[in-house]
Amino acid sequence: MNTVEPTNVLENALQQLNDAAALLDLEPAIHAKLSKPKRALIVSVPTRMDDGHFEVFWGYRVQHNMDRGPCKGGIRYHPSVTLDEVTALAMWMTWKCAVVNIPYGGAKGGVICDPAQMSEGEIERMTRRFVAELVEIIGPDQDIPAPDVNTNERTMGWLMDTYSMQVGHSVPAVVTGKPIAIGGSLGRSQATGRGVALVAREALATHGMAVEGARMVVQGFGKVGGAFAELIEGLGAAVIGVSDVSGGIYNAAGLDIGELTRHVIETGYVEGFPAGEPITNEELLALECDVLVPAALENVFTADNAGAVRARMIVEGANGPTTPEADRIFADRGIFVAPDILANAGGVTVSYFEWCQGLQAYFWTEDEVNERLEEIMVRAFGEVYAESQSRGVDMRAAATAVAVGRVAEAVRVRGIYP
Ligand code: NAD
Repeated sequence: MNTVEPTNVLENALQQLNDAAALLDLEPAIHAKLSKPKRALIVSVPTRMDDGHFEVFWGYRVQHNMDRGPCKGGIRYHPSVTLDEVTALAMWMTWKCAVVNIPYGGAKGGVICDPAQMSEGEIERMTRRFVAELVEIIGPDQDIPAPDVNTNERTMGWLMDTYSMQVGHSVPAVVTGKPIAIGGSLGRSQATGRGVALVAREALATHGMAVEGARMVVQGFGKVGGAFAELIEGLGAAVIGVSDVSGGIYNAAGLDIGELTRHVIETGYVEGFPAGEPITNEELLALECDVLVPAALENVFTADNAGAVRARMIVEGANGPTTPEADRIFADRGIFVAPDILANAGGVTVSYFEWCQGLQAYFWTEDEVNERLEEIMVRAFGEVYAESQSRGVDMRAAATAVAVGRVAEAVRVRGIYP
């Protein structure tokens, strides 16, 4: 059996909800309802490994809230997955969907496993068994999974197929982030990174700065960090530092992201990239820059290292990278933080477009997807920024207040059953 120490990430999420509840003077019943997930499913996932023995993994799916529509949220494969972490991520998904005002609640899933140590066949068999265990609670009207850390298009293709086999007909709208050949949306693979780039552009503009010539540092070079780096370089920014699990690289003149991407495709990691100096992840987070983008895992900025950050602003590609203590340090030091539930909402927004396209079986061009994404991200940034100015609070408190306010209104008008 796999066991891991619980993280404090759920406490962080609850603290943010409590702060928003105080700001909004939220009714105690609604506050209490939103503090707990609607449903949490724990399953064992027996998987035949290549050598014939069976490994039994733990899998989770947590549905935090469905008041504004079906649940939406990714599936993560990682050794450090815990029920608390999945619950926190599900709660953040509820706020994220509400911040960008798309008609979903939040969910998240995870399996405690180390995909780096597994063959593709093992990952496929584990995925199919996990999905078979979830069939009762997922579906286009109730809960629509998507990719997250260590899951991708391929995984979502297996998910769509397994669900469809179980119910006896093809159901493309049960999952988003799937391959184009089975109803994926154009623009989805880059959507989260594109949203982060749009929010970075808007955030810089509030400081009277342009993207062109701005210095960016990115932690994590996966689906989010990689796409962000490519798009922001295309807008004229210099990406001076990038890291992944292998370590980091730095080039004061700007890294060539196309070359770096080719290096990562060939070797698997940023480590060893010749056109940059090697640095540690710790050094990377302390680089002087205009925008620092965490795009790896949670709890990256804590009371221990927040004082060392020398970025003008932080735009959170990852979910939960900043602890509440680090948030206070950033606020005291005047570092502008565009929070995760706003900054990385581009992925779920295009997932929503993919779901709409799937339900209608009518597909949009990539330009249509990108234009509508930009419209939603710019509007959401503007609403959160206005809330932050009018209430005199930081962007995280403002984003959470906007989101919790929208979900609370849905609970109010529906009433609490029975
Ligand atoms: P991914 O698996 O594609 O990439 C993760 C990257 O982080 C990899 O480059 C990995 O090497 C790096 N990494 C892992 N541990 C690290 C460490 N200790 N130090 C430095 N780098 C490290 O995952 P992703 O989909 O890009 O997700 C990244 C973050 O963005 C997660 O917090 C995820 O929840 C969030 N997110 C993802 C999406 C999406 O659409 N994929 C949407 C919203 C938010």
